[in-house]
Amino acid sequence: MEITEIQVDGYEKVARCRDDETGLHALIAVHDTTLGPALGGMRLLPYVSEDEALFDVLRLSKGMTYKSAVAQTGLGGGKSVIIGDPATLKSPALFRAMGRFIESFGGKYITAEDMNIGIADLNSVHETTKHVTGLSREEGSSGNPSPYTARGCFQGARATAEEAWGSDDFTGRTVLMQGVGAVGLPYALMLQKAGAKLIICDINHDYALRLGAEHGFEVVPDSGHYKIECDIYAPCARGAGLNDETIPELNCKAVAGCANNVLLEERHANMLKERGIVYAPDYVINAGGIINVGVEVSPEGYNEEVALAKVDRIYDNLKAVYAVARRDNISTHEASGRLAEERIEAARATA
Ligand code: NAD
Repeated sequence: MEITEIQVDGYEKVARCRDDETGLHALIAVHDTTLGPALGGMRLLPYVSEDEALFDVLRLSKGMTYKSAVAQTGLGGGKSVIIGDPATLKSPALFRAMGRFIESFGGKYITAEDMNIGIADLNSVHETTKHVTGLSREEGSSGNPSPYTARGCFQGARATAEEAWGSDDFTGRTVLMQGVGAVGLPYALMLQKAGAKLIICDINHDYALRLGAEHGFEVVPDSGHYKIECDIYAPCARGAGLNDETIPELNCKAVAGCANNVLLEERHANMLKERGIVYAPDYVINAGGIINVGVEVSPEGYNEEVALAKVDRIYDNLKAVYAVARRDNISTHEASGRLAEERIEAARATA
């Protein structure tokens, strides 16, 4: 196994690992550990080149620094990528080698599940390093993140409603949700319990119809759904849904959904601002899962009560983001970045 450091400006440590025996070709990037050890998932993708993989791991690890800083998880930002075909490359030996690579960071990088990585793979990683999260509850892990993400979204929706119409009372308000899956469904049920009327759509229309019948949601076709009048639009399916085509047609006061990378490009946050639509930045409102994992890796270990209380702070985090956006007259997306940088700077100053 050969581990080589790659110097990248603005990153604490980036390294490549090649292991001929198992076929492992991987990169780990630790962007910043000012606020704590760098946590971020491991993904396995058939990148066409190492440059493409490097671009991805650098972008994603920096994103994790910002996400954790705003969420106050006590973690920094990192990420790892394995280059290869998920259908043919995987083996327990490969993941044990990956564990040794992670171990070489001495706890500065902690891994978790991401694209094409499952619990069985993480179990193999765990044989050679203890710096792994997201194993089963029985192993002291924080378990499935989706319920925590949903709870955080609901808290974020409260802050967003206050920003959009001055109250977190959802009575008589309409929420239009795209994607009613592991996060969307519990989030929808919390909004409904708080008095909102739910209009849902899903690429799996029959599934949406079944949910509609079971829970009393109105169901609409996915195609063109974003034009429907509502108070909150909650994209909970996929990324890039907010773009040049959809934003001019939105008929809502606010956007508050769990989907990652919901803006096609960062400039789309300005388009939302110009239209007077309050946008809850995706990585701020959907941070419940990472907050939960932050409790798992804390010195005290996992504690559900502590985790729930921390997830509920997503309400305060979004209030802070909206305050910075108003203070500096910038988009909420830019404001969340500024808030993250301010928190990291403050920690550096007192270190
Ligand atoms: P999921 O797969 O359980 O649910 C997604 C739902 O969206 C499914 O019902 C699916 O049929 C539907 N869907 C998929 N593609 C669609 C499309 N193109 N148009 C309409 N509907 C579509 O996933 P999830 O765990 O609920 O995650 C939803 C989103 O939230 C993803 O973007 C994910 O990255 C993000 N997210 C999830 C978590 C978490 O804890 N699970 C945390 C942070 C962010």
